[in-house]
Amino acid sequence: MKKSILVLFISSIVMIGCDRANSTTENQTSTKKHEFGLVIHGGAGTILKENMTDEQEAEYRAKLEEALQVGYAILEKGGTSIDAIVETIKIMEDSPLFNSGKGAVFTNAGTNELDASIMDGATMNAGAVGGVTIVKNPITAARAVLEKSEHVMLTGEGANQFAVLQGLDTVDNSYFYTERRFQSLQRAKNKTTGSTTILSEGEYKYGTVGAAALDKHGNLAAATSTGGMTNKKYGRIGDSPIIGAGTYANNNTCAVSCTGHGEFFIRYAVAHDISAMMEYKGVSLEEAGNEVVNVKLKNVEGSGGVIAIDKNGNVAMPFNTAGMYRGYIHPDGAAKVFIYKN
Ligand code: ASP
Repeated sequence: MKKSILVLFISSIVMIGCDRANSTTENQTSTKKHEFGLVIHGGAGTILKENMTDEQEAEYRAKLEEALQVGYAILEKGGTSIDAIVETIKIMEDSPLFNSGKGAVFTNAGTNELDASIMDGATMNAGAVGGVTIVKNPITAARAVLEKSEHVMLTGEGANQFAVLQGLDTVDNSYFYTERRFQSLQRAKNKTTGSTTILSEGEYKYGTVGAAALDKHGNLAAATSTGGMTNKKYGRIGDSPIIGAGTYANNNTCAVSCTGHGEFFIRYAVAHDISAMMEYKGVSLEEAGNEVVNVKLKNVEGSGGVIAIDKNGNVAMPFNTAGMYRGYIHPDGAAKVFIYKN
């Protein structure tokens, strides 16, 4: 008798737990089991509806949707999460809208130095490049490091040389010139007071791009690509190419890509922290992401956000800025794209 009451009690707790797990929060977080899925970001920051024209908004939405559909087509056919995130990121790198590839921001010296990384959650292999100047799609260089080198991270001239040897598409550094980013550099320089200036909070956007995917084989992968921060100096490298900070993937937990003020994401090992919270504390992706982004980072004014997917295909997209370009797609093929808070 006592035993059956206990069983009833335990099963009702489990039922309540399941109910919670199946709810969909306002933060566009899905919590169901999905055969595969893809989640992306195009940067976080002071992205407010009042500062955007309808045309600009439509342009961002269309590009995010295109990127999601390219990754979806690969995943749907049974392709790998690595292939899906690389092709998804290439779409965003080739667009001047985002701070990666073509639209990369300028260094203080008036050049463009790009960073990217990728991690395979099945093997825990990773590849990254920092400060490359001639690689058209830095994400392809990060992938080449993962697959074709014995190292995890290559930087500067060496990374450029490696990309050339791998036969990747290269361009003159002037390919990355866009008037909009050049003007941002001029504004940042005019505001310089100390040794380094980035754009003020009011106008700053972290336009880095990232993707994380679960494929039909149950493998997770994450990748991030960026031009870094406007007016960066002395070979500054942010979190994006640092495994554990800007990018992390582990088949046992989740795959994460970050965007925001890189120095904070490095200090707080943000991408790994989310995975570690899931692994050690047994919390959900949503809880871990919120704790790291909206508590730990927020408390120290580390602005930015993350996108992540877990081994069941649940996605989370927490951010502590006004907005974040973001979206996800599941097996039904309907891309969901968001820009502002709600
Ligand atoms: N996290 C990048 C960096 O600090 C910037 C960004 O997300 O846009 O380099």
